[in-house]
Amino acid sequence: MYNIDDLNRDLAELELGGARVMTIGYSLLGRPIKAVFKGDASGGQVLVQAAMHAREYITTPLVIEMMKNYSGSGGVWCVPMSNPDGVMLCVDGLDSVADDNLKSFLLDVNGGSTDFSQWKANARAVDLNVNWNANWGEGAQNVTRPAPGNYVGAFPLSEPENIALWEFTNKILPNVTLSYHAKGNVIFWGFGCIKPYYDEALRLSDSTGYPLLESTDSAGGYKDWYTAVTAKLGLTFEVASASETFPIPLDRLPDIYKANKDVLQISSVIAAEIEADRG
Ligand SMILES: [Zn+2]
Repeated sequence: MYNIDDLNRDLAELELGGARVMTIGYSLLGRPIKAVFKGDASGGQVLVQAAMHAREYITTPLVIEMMKNYSGSGGVWCVPMSNPDGVMLCVDGLDSVADDNLKSFLLDVNGGSTDFSQWKANARAVDLNVNWNANWGEGAQNVTRPAPGNYVGAFPLSEPENIALWEFTNKILPNVTLSYHAKGNVIFWGFGCIKPYYDEALRLSDSTGYPLLESTDSAGGYKDWYTAVTAKLGLTFEVASASETFPIPLDRLPDIYKANKDVLQISSVIAAEIEADRG
């Protein structure tokens, strides 16, 4: 397992190595949402974020490892754990929640089970990756009440975790965003008929070995929103084989890292190219 203590230890190590660590906002339960930065803050920027879905928290140590090994000159901003409350719920269950009313709400939403290992949502049982303002509520899997996954929330961007990431994205104005999820070993690209920077997306597909898929029926995702608003390069990486069960065992990390080891380097070059292209 990998929890917030592990994350803080890794962030401290990155900071010792010269990276900048910051807090971009707070979760529903008041946990800080951290970001780490390496490279040059001028020119085209890359934003990479992970663990928006609780049970996919293997993506946190993955992007941390990618940041530790990143030595390019372009700016890379990383939000390694977008959904800290959800991850803690997945890892530690109801012990991670102090409030008794919230405990009983979550237990109820989880069908009376204290096993939260399959949880995707945040601590309000909203799925953060269907809560963005991009065809919000129109996804085939969407549900309209609190659930372990797929609940779209009361309205777009209703959740503090997403507001933090929204504000951060608007501040950084990245040319490339990478959203790390699990599973399937594929990359999703585009939003509906908006399909920007195909050749650039293909370079990341070639490097990772993950096929590039058009996400034609996706709705309410971070990548969907980013692509719709900017028409720049937003990609969702689905790491680990489709046959794995959640949470993906951490001993899969070395192989997953191997596939993704050049992603930040290539993305920072692409971000610089888009910057030059757009002036
Ligand atoms: Zn996911």
